[in-house]
Amino acid sequence: IYLNLKRNEKNIPIVFVERIEKIREYILSFNCSNLVIFTDRLVYRLYKDFIDSLQHSYLYLFDKGEESKSIESYLKAIDYLLDRNVDRRALFIAIGGGVVGDVVGFIASTYKRGVRLIHIPTTLLSMVDSSIGGKTGINYKSYKNQIGTFYQPEMIIICPQFLGTLPKSEVLSGFGEIIKYGFTLDKSILDIKDRFEKDVFEIFQDKILAMQLIKKSINCKVKVVEKDEKESFLREILNFGHTVGHALETYYNYYFSHGIFVILGMVAEMILSNILFNFDLSNLDFLIRILEKNSIKLPQRFEKSQIISIMKYDKKNISSSIRIVLLKDVCDYVLGYEINEDILYEALDKFEKIV
Ligand code: NAD
Ligand code: ZN
Repeated sequence: IYLNLKRNEKNIPIVFVERIEKIREYILSFNCSNLVIFTDRLVYRLYKDFIDSLQHSYLYLFDKGEESKSIESYLKAIDYLLDRNVDRRALFIAIGGGVVGDVVGFIASTYKRGVRLIHIPTTLLSMVDSSIGGKTGINYKSYKNQIGTFYQPEMIIICPQFLGTLPKSEVLSGFGEIIKYGFTLDKSILDIKDRFEKDVFEIFQDKILAMQLIKKSINCKVKVVEKDEKESFLREILNFGHTVGHALETYYNYYFSHGIFVILGMVAEMILSNILFNFDLSNLDFLIRILEKNSIKLPQRFEKSQIISIMKYDKKNISSSIRIVLLKDVCDYVLGYEINEDILYEALDKFEKIV
């Protein structure tokens, strides 16, 4: 066990295993009526031998992609379980990225008022972010994560071997969240700067370095979640880069993977931080280098007024004022700063010239 996440008297072990074959022992140590594995078709194709070795009672496959977080997809899975009389003493295993983790988390927390769950995240983003903290959710109409619960799993099993098959864009996406932890909560993550002549993909081929970065990131997320499960205060820090990032993500219709928009959002929010708190803009160099090395360019110009109006309707903004996390310095943050539109225009002007 790497560490125990503590939540309302419950200990949630986060376990690291080097090779996927080791995962089996952990799963078999749980008593259950039925073992139900949920994954997506792509992950199943890549890891069929491993998944079949887990002696599951049932295997449920989602299509890959965000569509699997729809209400229809949720209900289809519930029907599947009911048809097979799966009872509340079952154990659910979610193997996959954040999509599988989120929808299965929601299924586990609602099916028969709650069934035990183990998360086995297989993307970098899900290892360092979505599998930790207990947020579950599905989308409603075109709105993301509008229906969901807080539901803690019995265990989270992290195995970096899964990263070996991950496409470059998904590695970069997870890396965006890792860098976010570096700028907000753990400076030492940014030591990676000096090694950044390589591209991200190569960095994560280095298993030892990959493990270090994943562990540091998980420590950051655990620290925040333990303090604040219900997102009232500290958890806001995790939204650094996300206010502008989400608006761009919506505006460009999910053109890049999520974490890439977070990198772009951090660039914009650092510019804002510079205008308002004199944040040192040499910190931008690293982010710009990442974008350049990976040939990330916004596909076309954006309409500033539209970006701003999307930000106003972000569900995290109370009464259409725009609140944002800003930095005075690396790891010295200001939460929930209410920003005025003129300054936002000014920052987006500067941002536009960089990306
Ligand atoms: P994802 O789950 O869509 O996975 C990305 C792609 O990678 C998918 O096509 C998947 O099939 C594939 N894949 C997964 N593992 C693989 C592997 N080992 N090798 C090759 N391909 C693999 O994307 P994601 O970035 O992991 O998660 C995004 C989702 O997570 C979003 O829906 C977001 O809302 C959610 N999220 C939730 C939280 C939370 O706290 N619950 C936090 C952040 C994000
Ligand atoms: Zn994010």
